[in-house]
Amino acid sequence: MKKLVIASNNPGKLREISRILAPLDIDVLPQTAFGVPEAEEPHCTFIENALAKARHASRHTGLPALADDSGVCVEALKGEPGVHSARFAGPPPAGTESGRDDQDARNNDRLLAMLAGQANRRAHYYCVIVLVRHADDPQPLIAEAGWHGEIIDTPRGDGGFGYDPLFLVAELGKTGAELAPEEKNRISHRGKALAALLARLAVEKREAGGENQ
Ligand code: IMP
Repeated sequence: MKKLVIASNNPGKLREISRILAPLDIDVLPQTAFGVPEAEEPHCTFIENALAKARHASRHTGLPALADDSGVCVEALKGEPGVHSARFAGPPPAGTESGRDDQDARNNDRLLAMLAGQANRRAHYYCVIVLVRHADDPQPLIAEAGWHGEIIDTPRGDGGFGYDPLFLVAELGKTGAELAPEEKNRISHRGKALAALLARLAVEKREAGGENQ
């Protein structure tokens, strides 16, 4: 594998994924470099949406593709926003040119409004990573991981993206947005899922090498 397309238009995700894949001897390219339109994500599970996005990007580019589907699942909200995390507050108001930061801010406001007066603040991020070697790959590589924390009332920090300013990692006393990028990648849902996927890729490569001997 010489080139890999990342099936996402989310700059926060792209930053984190590119940083983790940087040591590999692979050209990692965002799908925007190929003009891939945003994929539909109609499914109610992360894995189905991740597969749909990876196949979509691979079909458009003819290259292997890696997709991340992720979200924050809040215990008191029965797992919501979950797969709806990206557009939890709904689309931008008609007639406005709303950017991603604005979407994140509206999502966070809605989350806090729904948790007002709620004592149980437990939540976890969840991430599934899928890698397809081609659009119809019958054996996609799949890895998943979670990251546990709690939702606080006042945003803290300006790193990360999305719900990170509200996501407190109790054992560190810091929110996701207060962590350095490499620290977040070491312990986050995305970082751990990608590490597991890379371990699987390494095994596959070793085994293929062994079979060719
Ligand atoms: P997706 O692009 O459909 O997978 O939606 C992912 C959404 O989940 C993002 O837009 C964020 O709202 C949220 N999310 C996922 N991972 C993170 C993270 O690491 N930090 C903050 N928010 C995240």
